[in-house]
Amino acid sequence: MLADLGEDARPLAGGHSLIPMMKLRLATPSHLVDLAGVPELKGIRQDGGDIVIGATTTQHELIGSALLADELPILRETSLLIADPQVRYLGTIGGNVANGDPGNDMPAVMMCLGATYQVAGKAGERRIAAREFYQGAYFTALEPGEIVTAIHIKAPPAGHGWAYEKLKRKVGDYATAAAAVVLTMDSGKVATCSIGLTNVSETPLWAEEAEKILVGSALDDATVKKAVAAAEAITSPAADSRGPVHYRTKMAGVMLTRALARAKERAR
Ligand SMILES: Cc1cc2nc3c(=O)[nH]c(=O)nc-3n(C[C@H](O)[C@H](O)[C@H](O)COP(=O)(O)OP(=O)(O)OC[C@H]3O[C@@H](n4cnc5c(N)ncnc54)[C@H](O)[C@@H]3O)c2cc1C
Repeated sequence: MLADLGEDARPLAGGHSLIPMMKLRLATPSHLVDLAGVPELKGIRQDGGDIVIGATTTQHELIGSALLADELPILRETSLLIADPQVRYLGTIGGNVANGDPGNDMPAVMMCLGATYQVAGKAGERRIAAREFYQGAYFTALEPGEIVTAIHIKAPPAGHGWAYEKLKRKVGDYATAAAAVVLTMDSGKVATCSIGLTNVSETPLWAEEAEKILVGSALDDATVKKAVAAAEAITSPAADSRGPVHYRTKMAGVMLTRALARAKERAR
């Protein structure tokens, strides 16, 4: 239906980003195609070493999943920091990652985890890496008529450390700045490290340079400072009601410092 109706039609998932946009007349789709009627889009399952999450799985369902609590606890931590229970009962993971809003929390976490999005359209199915999906604010690699059907995430090794640190003005707010970290430690040194940043640029950010600086270190203060500076250097936040550019850049650094410390504490 989406492919036939053309560019003016939009998929509707939880409606908790799209309906507010329509109320503000920032989106005026001619048709809404409700994804809730497609049961194949729902659910969380293990497929070999991958965790596969259906696009219309709600944030509330992510929080309640025993499989995710064991294998991908960063998703539970992140979901609990999104909005409030009412939004999380309806808001979906697919809508959150496909929306393209730099304020959404899941995209940076997906970049951090090296997730891929399975998408489907009239031309068939394909996979897009989260790290290549975001091209500008509300602008993604999806072609007209394509939807995200599922998210594939390779489960990090047992004993990995993780943290999602989010600064917000009040409960329910989007991030002033936030940082996702997943790392593994070996004999007191960082063996692998991955970092994503939320709402400090037009797109979520993958802080690759900062990761390289940290691998092989014991997360000592001097190395963390160097990595934080590298992460801050790739940000370009907007000045808005959450603060001026310099403040939001520095808060990204503070969130990253805290996330690294907490991830290290949790790593076994
Ligand atoms: C008060 C409030 C506070 C919020 N705070 C936060 C927050 O702190 N952090 C955060 O991350 N989010 C926040 N949100 C947004 C919330 O998490 C949304 O529910 C979520 O971003 C979008 O998911 P949805 O299922 O509601 O999508 P919808 O609103 O239905 O859709 C959003 C967009 O994605 C498209 N879309 C939906 N599903 C798909 C799909 N499978 N494939 C392709 N395109 C699709 C739609 O066409 C639309 O353009 C907040 C929302 C509200 C109302």
